Amino acid sequence: MKALRFYAPEDVRLEEVAEPACGPGEVKLRVRNCSTCGTDVKIFHNGHQNLTPPRTIGHEIAGEVVEVGADVNATYGSDWRVGDRAQVIAAVPCGECHECRKGWMAVCQNQTSVGYQYDGGFAEYMIVPQQVLKVDGLNRIPDNVGYDEASAAEPFACAINAQELLGIEAGDTVVVFGAGPIGCMHIRIARGVHRAGPVYLVDVNAERLKMSADAVRPDEVVNAAEVDVVERVMKLTGGRGADVVITATAANVTQEQAILMAARNGRISFFGGLPKNDPFIKCDSNLVHYRQLHIHGANGSAPEHNKRALEYISSGQVPVKDLITRHIPLDDVLSAFQIVKAGEAIKVTVEP
Ligand SMILES: [Zn+2]
Ligand SMILES: [Zn+2]
Repeated sequence: MKALRFYAPEDVRLEEVAEPACGPGEVKLRVRNCSTCGTDVKIFHNGHQNLTPPRTIGHEIAGEVVEVGADVNATYGSDWRVGDRAQVIAAVPCGECHECRKGWMAVCQNQTSVGYQYDGGFAEYMIVPQQVLKVDGLNRIPDNVGYDEASAAEPFACAINAQELLGIEAGDTVVVFGAGPIGCMHIRIARGVHRAGPVYLVDVNAERLKMSADAVRPDEVVNAAEVDVVERVMKLTGGRGADVVITATAANVTQEQAILMAARNGRISFFGGLPKNDPFIKCDSNLVHYRQLHIHGANGSAPEHNKRALEYISSGQVPVKDLITRHIPLDDVLSAFQIVKAGEAIKVTVEP
């Protein structure tokens, strides 16, 4: 079968490999969709400390069950059968550490990842490892949800995790930095799940802003390359500031702007990580103190968030179909990375 294998930074090969065999405690999938995100591009260029090469990459996965190991259903109390449609978590918690036992699986100390320690989804077939099955990380796809939509459940789950920490209330003003696919999902979750009020989308790339705004229709689009975004948000909110600010970018300045534009009792999510070699920002601590700001981190998602994502897609609360703007065959997977890098599509999915 064909698989996209990472050997070293800038050395990623689509090659012929043996079809993987399914062990007694594993499930084998025919991958139908594996979507791409900025992480894939980062891995392509820089690799990752937890990734042991050569490794099949791809972590936003949906596929069809083609083999169920003999021990699986008895061990995990599941009922997987050949032909079932399934979505796979990407961040795999251990289920046993202090954080997992507290129910904070997104910050498991021993987290492993599909596409890092286990072969991922840019391949015709893949094995769902025991570690995923053990934490209930293989999810049934509802009948009315397509494989392409289901593959977007993983990034969607990360946004759900972040927003659940923010306590968004009906009518809250929400600012989202970053007009990529995840910024679009944040806007849809804020409205569809948390009943947010006005939502403003901020980016510095006019084309990407337009493409995403056409899809998710924010109440206002702010091009931070052209206007002072803090001033603009203050004006839009009558001088009060934004109740909720989510930074879905890797730009340090957006975190600083988020603190400057937050309303009293404002809640901020530092959703996007900053560059490893420059992770510092300037913060007026007295703003945080006197305005009672709440600054939250967000690290991936837990299995439960993936399940919730599939439910929200199925119920129509948070549609994702129209955000998947490119479908690309596995043979052209490297061009998918180029499209992601250039920001020419909202979400790109690969179909092995
Ligand atoms: Zn991703
Ligand atoms: Zn753990």
